[in-house]
Amino acid sequence: MNKGQHYGGRAWIELDGAALRHNVRVLRAKLPETCRLMPALKADAYGHGAVLIAKELNSMGINSFCVACAREGVALRKQGIKGEILILGYTHPAEFYLLRRYCLAQTVIDYRYAVLLNRCGRKIHVHIGIDTGMHRLGERSENIDKICGMYRMKNLVIDGIYTHLCADDGLKGYEREYTYQQADKFHQMIEEMKKEGLPISRLHMQSSYSVLNYPELSGDYARVGIALYGLLGTAEDTGRLNGFLEPVLSLKARVALVKKLYAGESAGYGMEFRADHDMEIATITIGYADGFPRALSKGRGTALINGHRAPILGLVCMDQTIVDISGILDVKPGDAAVLIGKSGDKEISACDLAEEAGTITNEILSRLGARLERVVI
Ligand SMILES: *Cc1c(COP(=O)(O)O)cnc(C)c1O
Repeated sequence: MNKGQHYGGRAWIELDGAALRHNVRVLRAKLPETCRLMPALKADAYGHGAVLIAKELNSMGINSFCVACAREGVALRKQGIKGEILILGYTHPAEFYLLRRYCLAQTVIDYRYAVLLNRCGRKIHVHIGIDTGMHRLGERSENIDKICGMYRMKNLVIDGIYTHLCADDGLKGYEREYTYQQADKFHQMIEEMKKEGLPISRLHMQSSYSVLNYPELSGDYARVGIALYGLLGTAEDTGRLNGFLEPVLSLKARVALVKKLYAGESAGYGMEFRADHDMEIATITIGYADGFPRALSKGRGTALINGHRAPILGLVCMDQTIVDISGILDVKPGDAAVLIGKSGDKEISACDLAEEAGTITNEILSRLGARLERVVI
C-alpha cells in the first residue's frame, strides 16, 4: 500500500515494524539463550493482523507460534507461515484432520482428550497441557498416571509440556505465593515423570507477565502475547515498564466532513449530545463495528486531530463517530484522526483507551475489526 497522500483508507491500523523488532530484542534479552519466543498470534495477533505479524517474526528468525484454535493455524499456513504452530485451545475431533493436513500441534487438554486424539489413527504432534491451578484447560498435575499414560499412546508425538500461570500479573504476597505454587507443582510433576523414565520434552510456562515479573521461571519457550505488542493489560502496568517496550499498533480513521453545530442543536443518535454554545464538529470514519468501543461515547473517549484532543460527542455509531473540533485549526475532510497512537506531542495508548472503556488492553486490541486495513510501516 502507498502510505503517502494517495492512500485513501477509511479506517486503518499502522504497524510499527521497528517497534516489533525492538520488543523481540528486549524480551529475548530477558530470557536465557536456550529459551525461544513462541509469540501468541491468537485473535488475529491481538488485532494487529496475524499474517503480517507472523511474516515479520519469521524474518527475525522466530519459528514457533501459538494460536487459540485450528482455524487460526490453518489461516497462517495458507498464507505461507512456516515453523511450529501450537493450538492452545480445544479442537473438535471432527477437525482433527486439520492438524495433520496443516501440520499444527494440538494441546492435550486432559487425559480423555488424549484418548480421542490417539484414536484418530495417525501421528499427531501435541504439547501436553497441565493444570497447576488455573483450572481452565490441562490435565491435573497430580495425575501422574494419566500423564504417563499419554506417553504410551502411539499416535501422540509429544513435542512439549506446559502449564499456564493465572496470577503472574501481580506481585502481591498471595499472587507470588500462588505463582510459585503453580511452578512447584509443575516441576514436581516433571520429577515424578523422570522417575518413571519418561523422555521429557520441551517445557514452558511463561507468558508476557511472567517473563517480566518472574524471569526465573523461564523454560524452553516463552508464550508471549501482549508484551510483544509493546503493552501490558493495564495503563498502570504499562506505565511501570517506563518505555521498556514500544507499542506496535496505531489506529486511525478519516475526517469525513467538518460542520457547525449551533447552540441548542443535538448531535447523533438519541439526541444524547446537546450543544449549549456554537461549535465546530467533525464526523470520523470509525465506529463500534471496527472495534472502537461504544463505551467511549459521551466524552469518555477522544480522537487526536492535528495534535489536539477532539472529545467524542454523543454516542459512537456502528461506522462513524462525531467529535468536537472547536478550537482546532485547519481540520479538513480527509485528514487522519488518531484513535490509538501519536499526533503531534499527544498520545493515546491502547491501555488508556482500555481504561476509559472499562476493560483491559488485550480486549480492546483483540476486538479491532476485520474491516480495518492493516499496514506495516
Ligand atoms: C493468550 C495466552 C498466552 C499469551 O498471553 P499474554 O499474557 O498475552 O502474553 C500464553 N499462554 C496461553 C495458554 C494463553 O492462552
